[in-house]
Amino acid sequence: MSLPTFGPSVPHVFPLYTAASYEFADLDAIEEVYAGQSGGYIYARDAHPNAGLLANELNTREHAQWGYMTGSGMAAITAGILGVVKAGDHVLYSNRLYGRTTQLIQQQLHRFGVTSASVDCNDLDGLAAALETKPKLLMVETISNPMLRVIDHLAVSRLCRYAGTKLFVDNTFATPLLCRPLEIGADLVMESVTKIINGHGDVTLGYIGGTDPELGKQVNAIISIWGFSASPFDCWQASRSLSTFELRMHASSQNAKALAESLIIDDVLINAIHPNLHHHPDREYADVHFPAGAGHMLGIELVGGRSAVNSFMRAVPELTFTPSLGDVHTTLSHPDSTSHRYESTETKLAQGITPGLIRVSVGIEPIVELQNLFHKGLSAVRQMMATIR
Ligand SMILES: *Cc1c(COP(=O)(O)O)cnc(C)c1O
Repeated sequence: MSLPTFGPSVPHVFPLYTAASYEFADLDAIEEVYAGQSGGYIYARDAHPNAGLLANELNTREHAQWGYMTGSGMAAITAGILGVVKAGDHVLYSNRLYGRTTQLIQQQLHRFGVTSASVDCNDLDGLAAALETKPKLLMVETISNPMLRVIDHLAVSRLCRYAGTKLFVDNTFATPLLCRPLEIGADLVMESVTKIINGHGDVTLGYIGGTDPELGKQVNAIISIWGFSASPFDCWQASRSLSTFELRMHASSQNAKALAESLIIDDVLINAIHPNLHHHPDREYADVHFPAGAGHMLGIELVGGRSAVNSFMRAVPELTFTPSLGDVHTTLSHPDSTSHRYESTETKLAQGITPGLIRVSVGIEPIVELQNLFHKGLSAVRQMMATIR
């Protein structure tokens, strides 16, 4: 096949390469690529230009030595864990992880002879004690979902080094704009690019990066062999989104902080959750270590549980209810019945996930518009509560 040429001009944007495989003139040509003597691609499940471009851009942002795109955030988490553990190993994981990550470690890894235990990573003495069991890996989130607990990532990283435990950070809520875990000693970082890095709700993608080249080779092989690869189209879309990522993240984080600060706790709105609020348990750490803001996520807890949440959602259809986050538009989610659906009621309540908790992913709308919508939603809940009291 001969590709079109356009005289002296070249496309101003990076093209989408959907080819599943690449062709070669002869055996010597493919041998060169296998041997790594010349750049080039062979089979899209192993590597393709759109994934390569996007991973490079994310490597720069994360200060990673290597990084790869995967078909989802969960694929990135799976690839990272499989890159480190084998049968007989022990994995320690934060008690505040994304629901599916907890399931992966608790339910799937056990089938391969990997044991696990959960730990409260905001209790450093407890974490130090748990690390005495010499786990192979610790899995944590920089800012947890949905209670937005911020880990002391410097201390966690030091404790892991001391114990010889590899540290794997899910940085989805913080993003490389707020936090670069590899800089402070984490071994692996992942992002669900599905969320604010893409930010337009139209791709499912993950990224995994690290510093140790041997671990990089292992993770790369796992992505290809287990089939965790990303689609060229998704990578192409996300590359375009990446050019506005910093602008969107700044705007959403500022909005989230301003919105949180404007909410007044009363008999209807019983709690507001944001790391910059004065009553948040990790406020001091967030204020010092996250100078660019503590993220675009916010929690509100309503009195009246599930029916109050329904009243709020029905009153403000502009704030879409959808079980995802990171969109340019503000969206609402309900951890109790979506992201943490499969966890026991006790586990949920221990984390503070009640039926009245709404998780808000704040978008880039004008702040006054958002404040008005929240006011409208809360008024509807107040009215509903008045009728049943
Ligand atoms: C969404 C999410 C994931 C999983 O990512 P997918 O792209 O949906 O597979 C992992 N961790 C966190 C914190 C998330 O929000």
